[in-house]
Amino acid sequence: MENNPLLPLPEGMSIDQIQASESEVSITVMSRHPTSCCPLCSEPSCSIHSHDRRRVRDVPCGGRRVQLVLCVRKFFCRNPLCERKIFTERLPDFVLPWAKMTIRYCQELTSIGLATCGKGGTKLAARLGMQTSRQTVLRRIMDLPDLPGSSIVYLGIDDFAFRRGYRFGTICVDLESRRVADLLPDRKAATSAAWMYQQPDLMVVSRDRGGEYASAVTQGAPQALECADRFHLLKNLGEAVEGLLARHLAASCKRQIQATADAQAPVWQSKRATRSSPKFGAPSTKPTRGASGSL
Ligand SMILES: [Zn+2]
Repeated sequence: MENNPLLPLPEGMSIDQIQASESEVSITVMSRHPTSCCPLCSEPSCSIHSHDRRRVRDVPCGGRRVQLVLCVRKFFCRNPLCERKIFTERLPDFVLPWAKMTIRYCQELTSIGLATCGKGGTKLAARLGMQTSRQTVLRRIMDLPDLPGSSIVYLGIDDFAFRRGYRFGTICVDLESRRVADLLPDRKAATSAAWMYQQPDLMVVSRDRGGEYASAVTQGAPQALECADRFHLLKNLGEAVEGLLARHLAASCKRQIQATADAQAPVWQSKRATRSSPKFGAPSTKPTRGASGSL
């Protein structure tokens, strides 16, 4: 990169013009390399065919979006054995062919995405002067090269939603490195079993209480010890405690109702006994029909 304190550029490129608005800075950059190599045969050429302009996004400057207008050239390839006759000069360390953003812009988006997520990364990027979408942030993360494969001894397995409520897959996590080992297209036992079968060092599988993954372990890794993962263990514990408390609450309410009924019962019975006392020998003020007839 050229020693430009404000905008580092590849060697042979220089700033030609700067136009700034309130939210965006447009910088025209000229390529002044005398030669360029053909991307097909690597033969250097100095025969300029024409000039071209590319617009690419670059890292923000002071919170404002930066757009580079790259003035590049097209060259003739003079190698008679090469199939490519005309090519556009490449800037391999700065911007990839046909890319709409510089490499350092992509790297910053990747860092934002890794530190946040698709939606959160979009909001943070907007605050920093980078206009993007959550799909782009996620694509940057998914473009990262896979880590070299290593044997998995402790596996965590669970389902996840590609589309919530409609399509589910299986996520396999290496519990030692705390990294996602693989994503399976569904949550069927056969798919998970086939994946586990390729992990000969598997010793422990942490899973939910469902039957599919239990069956997968039985088929694909019978040597592994199964255990309930912490999430489902706490979830089941919470549900069990909730059920227990609900039963105790119902029994307590029932006892209170019974106690209230028992407390009201003597009063009711005493009133009833008072009303029915003449029947048991108390003098009655109202004469019976038979009694009045005898008088
Ligand atoms: Zn060539």
